[in-house]
Amino acid sequence: MFSEDDFIMLSALQHYIFCPRQCALIHVEQVWAENRLTAEGRIMHDKVHEEGSESRGSVRIERALALRSLRLGLSGMADVVEFHRQANGSWLPFPVEYKRGKPKPDESDAVQLCAQAMCLEEMLNVRIEAGAIFYGKTRHRHDVKFDEALRSTTEEIAHKTHELIESGITPKAMYEKKCESCSLLELCLPKIVEKVRSVKKYLESV
Ligand code: SF4
Repeated sequence: MFSEDDFIMLSALQHYIFCPRQCALIHVEQVWAENRLTAEGRIMHDKVHEEGSESRGSVRIERALALRSLRLGLSGMADVVEFHRQANGSWLPFPVEYKRGKPKPDESDAVQLCAQAMCLEEMLNVRIEAGAIFYGKTRHRHDVKFDEALRSTTEEIAHKTHELIESGITPKAMYEKKCESCSLLELCLPKIVEKVRSVKKYLESV
């Protein structure tokens, strides 16, 4: 069990999956920069959060709900949690995350949603089997099943992210294609760092 002082943000898991260096720059070194993609994402989240709570038939919708898990050492906020009324009169949470773009090839969105579900499970003492991700670009809502494989990946990522942040060490920059969409590109300078590294290597070899 973690104490609240050791909590990391839910968003750190997604940053870690995208690039451990980006995760450390943001969550260890407190570096942040916005690009068009992060600005569009922030505006979308703000819009969703502003809409407040409402009821639609047998669904109660809560927005900007604070989350935390003592077991995983995570805290953050869910964009939307729908509470679906069950036949026995109880309410089952169904987290919905809003994303600016389209589905990604990696599991980062599903891991972030699963981590939110695991927070809700711990807070409300329920089992949540599924949630959904709404993608702004395709305007489609994709259901996500919280199966054992996704749960175990989420726990592993939470563990590794804690290790990275607690180490206080920022991994070295390595230029990859994804760097072009990274909001920290201008601060991280992966191409220059790589060039310096290869010059240093050359000088050491002569
Ligand atoms: S620019 Fe590339 S290496 Fe640097 S933080 Fe972003 S993704 Fe990671």
